[in-house]
Amino acid sequence: MSDLSDLYQEVILDHNKNPRNQGKPAGANRTAEGYNPLCGDKLTVYVKMDGDRIAEVGFTGSGCAISQASASVMTTVLKGKTRAEAEALFQRFQKMVTGKLESEEELLAMGELAAIAGVNQFPSRVKCATLSWHTVASALHQVGGTAKTE
Ligand code: ZN
Repeated sequence: MSDLSDLYQEVILDHNKNPRNQGKPAGANRTAEGYNPLCGDKLTVYVKMDGDRIAEVGFTGSGCAISQASASVMTTVLKGKTRAEAEALFQRFQKMVTGKLESEEELLAMGELAAIAGVNQFPSRVKCATLSWHTVASALHQVGGTAKTE
């Protein structure tokens, strides 16, 4: 299990150092902002919907390593997913970070997202890990395809 923890640690460090999908993708038609006052994490998530599918997803923001790495891993996983798939994944992610997955198999099925599972040992960091998911969920729930102007 410690090998696995090392691997997960590496994934988080790597995504924190080299965040994937940073910035606003061309053609983004949804955007939402997220803020975690407990830690000071801030995120803006951009989504380009193609019908019901997430064609592109990117983010910008600042905050702790967990919030940034979680956002980065999330963007790599969500690309190509339908809205329903994304929402189902969010529910499983939330179970994972609150320690409610029922088996090791369920955890392994999370793929790279499993790297974030360790936060279930640190309840105060759960909001850091889920901030990007809450933010993308709010972007996905916007009606119509128009970007929010800022
Ligand atoms: Zn944080």
